[in-house]
Amino acid sequence: MVSDFLCATDWDLTIIQDFFTEDVKQKILGTHAGGIRSGNDKAIWNLSTNGEFTVKSAYQSLFTNVADHSWPWNFIWHLQIPPKVKVFLWTLVHGRLLTNESRMQKGLAADAHCPRCSCPIESMDHIFKGCNISITIWTATQHTCEFPSTFSLPFYDWLLINLKSTMKLQYDIPWGCFFAVGLWYIWKWRCSVIFDPRFKLPVWTVVVINHFTREYFEANKNRHPKPQRHTEYLCWKSPTKDWHKLNVDGSLHKGLGIMCAGGVIRNDKGEWMNDFAANLGSGQVLEAELWGLIKGMDLAWNCGYRSLEIEMDSLVAVHLVLSPIDNSHPLFSLVVNCQELLERDWRVILTHVYRERNSVADMMASLGHCCDHGCRTFTSPPSEVIKLYEADLLGFTKPRLVLS
Ligand SMILES: [Zn+2]
Repeated sequence: MVSDFLCATDWDLTIIQDFFTEDVKQKILGTHAGGIRSGNDKAIWNLSTNGEFTVKSAYQSLFTNVADHSWPWNFIWHLQIPPKVKVFLWTLVHGRLLTNESRMQKGLAADAHCPRCSCPIESMDHIFKGCNISITIWTATQHTCEFPSTFSLPFYDWLLINLKSTMKLQYDIPWGCFFAVGLWYIWKWRCSVIFDPRFKLPVWTVVVINHFTREYFEANKNRHPKPQRHTEYLCWKSPTKDWHKLNVDGSLHKGLGIMCAGGVIRNDKGEWMNDFAANLGSGQVLEAELWGLIKGMDLAWNCGYRSLEIEMDSLVAVHLVLSPIDNSHPLFSLVVNCQELLERDWRVILTHVYRERNSVADMMASLGHCCDHGCRTFTSPPSEVIKLYEADLLGFTKPRLVLS
């Protein structure tokens, strides 16, 4: 039974390491063992953020780790081009344009030849790259773009690279936008040749494409203005008189997937009181943040501090802890443990701060990667954090760009 591997409310490391391999051991140790409010065990759906089953997440899971199924074209909807050009591109990248090759395959045409030149097969590749008009258009732009270097690529690679290109033309127009409109015009003119006997191709095709792209771009460039940012100079601030301040942080070793957490407690004069570094087993960075909060609050409570300001730089973790949580949430047990600690008989305030104000805790969390599994407390500031600690004490600021 699972309870055989527990010692009080935590995992029994000595038993676990006798039974499991290292990676399984790390996964178990990184899982919250449960607390008073964790409730009964229940099955939850681990592929959604709230633990609820959705058909979408089940379907997406079928393609997890299968790189070939990734769909690279969604960016089309974010290009600064008219909606009708976006819809056209969407049809194009799905291979749904009715070229003569496609019409013959469907039994809608007797042969697949190009209506504009002598090419026997009018494929998409031919229309947009090989036919005379396309060659004329793309050649005329070759002095201002990176187009020639991509022309030998397979058709869809060629489309992708050029549509995604942010290289700027005159008036700051991205090449990708000009290219998209160019493709649209090539198709439009191709259809006009077939269906409108009076149609005459413009003499200056590139000028027409450029004019249309620029007109739309100019009219819309201020519709989504970039948010204004300004520099703020941030520093750690000591707590209110007679209060203590706990700074906590989580850290994840990306290669090993091992979570660590760390924190520091200082008094109202900014003097170092306690700190900790914890190595927590396998998990995600948000779990590491929540673990940091639990370990930090435990330490502060056990040290007898009863007026505590807590700061952490994970806004998501702060929101999770300060909001009601459903018991199907994958982090339910960890979050209710945090809430339980917050509701003890003490004065405690939890707030989010930018990481520039949390640098000592950040370094303490990093130190966890050098420790064995478990939580280690220190009797004096470790040498790695002394400079950061002194900088906080002296009120040194660090710049950060923030939204105005
Ligand atoms: Zn042709």
